[in-house]
Amino acid sequence: MQVSVANQAPYLTSDAHLRHDPHVQFAILGSGSSGNATLAKCAHTTLLIDAGLSSKQLVARAQKLGVEAIDGILLTHEHGDHVRGLKTLLKQRNIPLYTTSATAHVLRETGIVGSWHTFEAGQAFAIGDVTVQSFSILHDAVDPVGYVLRCGEKNLGLISDAGHVTHSVTQHLQGMHGLYLEANYDDDLLAADTKRPWSIKQRISSRHGHLSNRQAAELLENISHAALRHVVLGHLSSDCNCRQIATRTMRDVLTSKGLADVQINCACQDETCGWWQL
Ligand SMILES: [Zn+2]
Ligand SMILES: [Zn+2]
Repeated sequence: MQVSVANQAPYLTSDAHLRHDPHVQFAILGSGSSGNATLAKCAHTTLLIDAGLSSKQLVARAQKLGVEAIDGILLTHEHGDHVRGLKTLLKQRNIPLYTTSATAHVLRETGIVGSWHTFEAGQAFAIGDVTVQSFSILHDAVDPVGYVLRCGEKNLGLISDAGHVTHSVTQHLQGMHGLYLEANYDDDLLAADTKRPWSIKQRISSRHGHLSNRQAAELLENISHAALRHVVLGHLSSDCNCRQIATRTMRDVLTSKGLADVQINCACQDETCGWWQL
């Protein structure tokens, strides 16, 4: 049975297939400045990474992908575009929440009630079939983190909302089979943008802001390898980036390393594009 989604893509797999092949799969429910959420699935465990869409959209888009139950929610940081649907979702469903102690503290103060499982950035822990490794990233939030999810022989690295790539980030993201990378803005488009005041542009491009295409490409150059299968670019600015430029920037890096077969896609804000399988 093929899962039904609006824009069915060739990389979409069915639930029947999953039962026999417990590889890691991931899907972006939505990504951009209006909200971010990602699903990752391995064997019997399904995780949601961030909940920045409305609760209604989170549930609807997950259902489109055949997902009814979520075993845990991993949060990267407390910004609204990553937690917008959390409060309502947790009123409807009792899903365990995983985040750093500092981020949990801030979110509790906003009235979010949940089953909290806190950790310190850099710690690893297990949720069902998945081993989660957290790592610190630089961003203007209290304690932002990225994640590596490992299941069997496969692993998926996720980094979003990072102003600067540190040595630690590069080390943690070595050897990934799948990557979700922030590619927020193109340097030239951000410089030419007339909607944003100078102070906002400074914040975006600062060491605690967001990753540009150039920064994401430099990271990709340092971590890509022959077993890398999928790169999904996320958090693209609708004004200061475009999918063609972002994709081409990454493609150039991978081609120069002899890795032209790696799949590169951009996440959408308003719909999910289906599963990518590692
Ligand atoms: Zn943020
Ligand atoms: Zn964000």
